[in-house]
Amino acid sequence: DTRKGYILYMEDVSVSFDGFKAINNLNLYIREGELRCIIGPNGAGKTTMMDIITGKTQPDSGSVWFGQSMDLLKMKEPEIANAGIGRKFQKPTVFEALTVFENLWLALGGQRSIPRLFNRKLSAEQLARMDEVINLIGLSDLQSSLAGTLSHGQKQWLEIGMLLMQNPKMLLVDEPVAGMTHQEMDKTAELLKGLAGRHTVVVVEHDMEFIRSIAQTVTVLHQGSILKEGSMDQVQSDPKVREVYLGA
Ligand code: ADP
Repeated sequence: DTRKGYILYMEDVSVSFDGFKAINNLNLYIREGELRCIIGPNGAGKTTMMDIITGKTQPDSGSVWFGQSMDLLKMKEPEIANAGIGRKFQKPTVFEALTVFENLWLALGGQRSIPRLFNRKLSAEQLARMDEVINLIGLSDLQSSLAGTLSHGQKQWLEIGMLLMQNPKMLLVDEPVAGMTHQEMDKTAELLKGLAGRHTVVVVEHDMEFIRSIAQTVTVLHQGSILKEGSMDQVQSDPKVREVYLGA
């Protein structure tokens, strides 16, 4: 059983847009609890890869499995989200006119619908989960603050917290530290490292210093397939990687 032990198993996946192969025989295997960084130059296929995993884009060929039994190519986007794959896009999309607490509350419902928010009562279990997540994202002192008053970094953490309210098995995080201060980057590194193990975390990022601070395994994507995979040192010293990615 070749898929055993992998939470995400992508094999021979290809997709073309108008004859251009954005993903080209991609094989990606991620173990449960891993913190994996995906890097690669613009146009390498990182976004398309995430779109395939989340069901936004259907590949032309290949297979994509989640856990042992879920064939993601047979599932629609909302089903995939419900199955435990959470995705965070680059820009934070929190509700600025709601408090930190309310944003997390809203996220509990799994759908971002404000009218339903105040019709629900929180169970003790849900309140405990809320508390846990607020602590995890470091916003306990700000839980009554409007999300609109948060710093850019705090908004990013809040959005990660919103994803965590669903207790996803796997989190896909797109450029989490873009626009952050160094201090915020350090906190984000701690947060993501703390999530790994309990969740599988896949991070697409450009900031090399940040990647080095969190990475276990780095996957370099180039022209829609994997150019190199290994530790940050292995990746950065690889001549192919230097040529296409680091421009050296
Ligand atoms: P990355 O996220 O690594 O920058 P993308 O996955 O966004 O790369 O893009 C890979 C390639 O596929 C790019 O050349 C891009 O222009 C192309 N591409 C992505 N999505 C589409 C689309 N919906 N239609 C046409 N071309 C696309």
